[in-house]
Amino acid sequence: MANRSVPKAALPYLRARLPQMLELLRELTLLESPSTEKAPADRCCGFLGDQWQLRGGSVEILKQATRGNHLRVTWQPDNRAPSEQILILGHYDTVYPTGTLAEMPFRISDGKAFGPGTFDMKAGIVQALFAFEALRELQVPSAKKLVFLWTSDEEIGSESSRSLIASEAKRSNAVLVLEPSLGPRGLLKTSRKGVGEAQLVVCGRASHAGLAPEKGVNAIHELAAQITRMERWNNLRRGVTINADLVKGGSRTNVIADRAEAVLDLRAWRVSDMRSLESRLRSLKPIHGGAKLEITGGFNRPPLERKQSAALFARAKSLAKDLGLALGEAAAGGGSDGNFTAALGIPTLDGLGAVGDGAHSRQEHVLIKTLPPRAALLAALLGS
Ligand SMILES: [Zn+2]
Repeated sequence: MANRSVPKAALPYLRARLPQMLELLRELTLLESPSTEKAPADRCCGFLGDQWQLRGGSVEILKQATRGNHLRVTWQPDNRAPSEQILILGHYDTVYPTGTLAEMPFRISDGKAFGPGTFDMKAGIVQALFAFEALRELQVPSAKKLVFLWTSDEEIGSESSRSLIASEAKRSNAVLVLEPSLGPRGLLKTSRKGVGEAQLVVCGRASHAGLAPEKGVNAIHELAAQITRMERWNNLRRGVTINADLVKGGSRTNVIADRAEAVLDLRAWRVSDMRSLESRLRSLKPIHGGAKLEITGGFNRPPLERKQSAALFARAKSLAKDLGLALGEAAAGGGSDGNFTAALGIPTLDGLGAVGDGAHSRQEHVLIKTLPPRAALLAALLGS
């Protein structure tokens, strides 16, 4: 089969498979898989592993001590050394605790499938699975080695999967991320902000607020002054933001606070801005005499800059055109595991997953009719 015909053959195949895609999305949604609950997450992982095995993937369950297990599925061409490796990346964990289904059941209404984790990103995994099935069933001759990695802790920072993602990405020529697309037109995410979290702890000195105010160093006042200073670092035009999202401090009334702390949300589009924000934080000096500052944390996911995705996006756009789809792109203020792989210098294209809306909310849903064309686009990317 000529390469350019992959999209044309995959689309009718996948359209005919829509009922099975939807049924699998339902089963996956019913297997609730919160990032912080190992037993249910492992069940979801095991189910996914079986589905890939059924379709001829070589499945490994990568056991984890505290988090859900990760799933790696590989496929390589028979009889020849692969020309390159493509990593298809996503996560099966959700932000919803077990039991959420009771008030937020899986349901279909008005051409949409609702339920916890449907959009972010179980439908993306379903699309990848059926894209793989289509390539196998249509016997598309590919010289590429495909590695699908489905992780369990993306929603809580990917601590247990980060090194695995990095080592697999380094062996790959490209990374395709099945995170949700953006908006009703399903825009791909060709750049993402880097995201971080820092903690600022201020130590002052306690004293009686009435009898000996001169002996105290008020940690809350110091923290307020520092936050006021940091607020001026925000540059919305460049997309640099720093926000104190949580503050606490003090022990009781009548006592000058000897301790206060803030958790800061950090974001930037550019690696250079990320570095300068981090170094400004590290070089903070106390404003009030006697106060001490302690800064920990920093950027957890570096920015995904557009230069890492531009060539892959151009290819996806041209393949989409063959499918009769107009494919657009957008920048996203949130991070994903694609940020890690792009920062390693591996071309990365994100937002290839579901079309829908309402991630992390009661309204989370996917647009059902978009499942086959999105899966066909992925099949074209993998098979050409
Ligand atoms: Zn996600």
